[in-house]
Amino acid sequence: RSKHSGRSTFSWYTAEMDADAQHRKEIEEGLAKALRLDQFDVLFQPQYALKDNRLTGYEALIRWEHPVKGRIPPDLFIPVAEDCGLIEDIGDWVLNRACQEAANWEDNTLKVAVNVSAAQFKPGITERKVANALRASGLKPERLEIEITESLLIANTDAVVETLKAIRNMGVAIAMDDFGTGYSSLSYLSRFPFDKIKIDKAFIQNLGDDTSTDAIVTSIIGLGRSLDVLITAEGVETENQVTLLRAAGCHLVQGYYFGKPDSVRNHQESRLRKQAEAVSRDLEATVPV
Ligand code: C2E
Ligand code: MG
Ligand code: MG
Ligand code: MG
Repeated sequence: RSKHSGRSTFSWYTAEMDADAQHRKEIEEGLAKALRLDQFDVLFQPQYALKDNRLTGYEALIRWEHPVKGRIPPDLFIPVAEDCGLIEDIGDWVLNRACQEAANWEDNTLKVAVNVSAAQFKPGITERKVANALRASGLKPERLEIEITESLLIANTDAVVETLKAIRNMGVAIAMDDFGTGYSSLSYLSRFPFDKIKIDKAFIQNLGDDTSTDAIVTSIIGLGRSLDVLITAEGVETENQVTLLRAAGCHLVQGYYFGKPDSVRNHQESRLRKQAEAVSRDLEATVPV
């Protein structure tokens, strides 16, 4: 970086940068190829209502099934896709795929949530893409939810507000993902139309361990309730977290405690298995031995 910092430091720095740039270039080329060769997949993570333990729907989460490297998680390639512009094509693919799958689910009351990153969100275009995905799949708009993040709102433009309104007017819900990690001002809460807040898993994971986290989570739930917005806790991993969230009045939960991202077929099979186990437990309890 600086010619005063000494020769070895200088060459170390550039070698590091080269490796990083090289790595990103590889991912970038791989992503373009992955789209052409159909290497992406979508997994679904269940969401439950706390009041009656009912399954309400699934969040769609992309995976890259690399022929050599195996399954690559989105945190490793979504940021690269955002930087190089491929996020638009990848995002379109996910939206269409998720809507198609959901339209074929046996239970046609279940919702599907799709992540749309700020880099992919284009006023005037995103609402058309949502409408097209609904039309092509036949999915009812009420069954689709779009997850956005606070970073989209930093732009704070009227065009973003108009697009969010247009999407909501179709009957599609808007969820604010990773709430509490992105933006320092809450003023957008009154300016931007949305239906749900998802409390970031960083907060949920410290629930019960740390009184200030408990206070923050309780306040977010209270805020959501007074704004008449649904609250989802994400990253729920323990029964203790469930107990605390229930007591605080949280509406919905998502996390490994309830199910990891997987195919919907696998989720259904394990639900049926658990139901069958519960039935046979009940029978054993009533049949005298
Ligand atoms: P996100 O939208 O906040 O999704 C939740 C992430 O938390 C998922 O990671 C999920 O697997 C993980 N998670 C859920 N429950 C638990 C838990 O109990 N413990 C822990 N440790 N983790 C849990 P994943 O699938 O790796 O996705 C990471 C992020 O990548 C997502 O965060 C989202 O920002 C982005 N992403 C994923 N799919 C898409 C996509 O189709 N489009 C876009 N634009 N972004 C996506
Ligand atoms: Mg999400
Ligand atoms: Mg999140
Ligand atoms: Mg995220």
